[in-house]
Amino acid sequence: MVFLTEVQKRFQREMQDFASKELAQGAKERVKLDYITSEVINKIADAGLLRMTMPAKYGGKPIDYVSIGIVFEEICRVDFSPFSMILSHTLIPQTMELASEELKEEWLPVLGKGNKLACFGNTEPDCGSDAAAITTRAIRDGDYYVIKGEKTSISGGMQADAILFTAKTDMEAGARGVTCFFVPFDLDGISKSRFVDMGIHPSGRASIFFDDVHVPARFRIGEEGEGFTRIMSGLDFARVLVAIATVAMAEASLSEAVEYSKTRTKFGNPLCDFEGVSFKLAEDLTLIESSRLLCYEALKLKDEGLPNTKEAAMAKWYAVDSSVRILHDVLKILGFRGYSDATPVEQRLRDAIGSRIGDGTAEIMKLIIAREMIGRKVRPIM
Ligand SMILES: Cc1cc2nc3c(=O)[nH]c(=O)nc-3n(C[C@H](O)[C@H](O)[C@H](O)COP(=O)(O)OP(=O)(O)OC[C@H]3O[C@@H](n4cnc5c(N)ncnc54)[C@H](O)[C@@H]3O)c2cc1C
Repeated sequence: MVFLTEVQKRFQREMQDFASKELAQGAKERVKLDYITSEVINKIADAGLLRMTMPAKYGGKPIDYVSIGIVFEEICRVDFSPFSMILSHTLIPQTMELASEELKEEWLPVLGKGNKLACFGNTEPDCGSDAAAITTRAIRDGDYYVIKGEKTSISGGMQADAILFTAKTDMEAGARGVTCFFVPFDLDGISKSRFVDMGIHPSGRASIFFDDVHVPARFRIGEEGEGFTRIMSGLDFARVLVAIATVAMAEASLSEAVEYSKTRTKFGNPLCDFEGVSFKLAEDLTLIESSRLLCYEALKLKDEGLPNTKEAAMAKWYAVDSSVRILHDVLKILGFRGYSDATPVEQRLRDAIGSRIGDGTAEIMKLIIAREMIGRKVRPIM
């Protein structure tokens, strides 16, 4: 890509090398598992990819945001199984900036080494797109908060050891009543149940139930009411990373389709000789290039400390929807093989469809873009 610096290009080659040497073998099987293997967790952790936004004083190995995008692109092109773990461990340390020193010292080093895993939860059974409408309660009781409610659809929930989540400390205050907590799963009163999903299996999506859980106040992140803004700015970042990961899967499958179209002969000609196929491939490559540019523009803005909410929403909507279209095109070009597990495309398509919903749907992204263009009067008010 044209605007990468020499250092970023070198890092990109290192990541390509790491992914092909360490992750390519067995990746097609691993994306069918409902957990991330310890071998992959260790390899990713040893490469420093679970501490990319973590301050060095907690064992972190911080890198710039464009380079984080490169990590997601190169890893997910080869192996999508660790995607949700890397995503959580990239976002959580940033939100933890507001946590007490004690909590950071206790958790950040172990998260960075992959010794413990954490997930993120805002969604509830009655609250997804309207993220501030949560009803999980956190009532202060001396040195504790008593937490009651359900977080649902939580990526990594089954395998994680802890969760960073939102709860209302003031039920009447709307978004201003949202507070963040970081809580280990071994507290009394927490239970989990697993989703059976069509894709992104290794993320082991879960519902997490809090039944009057007594959470020490030191597990609160920041002040009461500070949670929502913090989570929302983290979501901008998450959306771009989801988008890049999905583009990488689409690009991997598109390359497979190009090769296939050169060798598969129909009506006496290779498939790629037919405009019906080659124009489709040309359109798909253009969608990939434009999607990638949107993603990296959003990350570059973040590196420069500039707002990127609009660009992040554009990337999430356009790149993920484009990737789903491309993967579907590839599946059709591969014919009967594409519609089986003989090639990775069917799994990638199911994974990409999940990415359309996780971290916000296209409709919500368009609302955000419209709000950034027109102003806060755009309805519904979020
Ligand atoms: C694979 C996957 C991973 C996930 N991981 C996590 C996670 O780790 N942590 C977490 O907290 N959540 C997670 N989620 C949940 C996800 O963030 C929510 O599913 C998402 O925000 C949508 O919420 P919802 O499902 O409740 O849909 P709803 O909010 O009920 O919306 C349903 C439909 O209505 C549309 N809609 C809603 N409002 C409007 C409007 N105003 N205008 C037009 N259309 C509208 C939506 O676009 C959607 O298509 C995950 C979901 C998936 C599928």
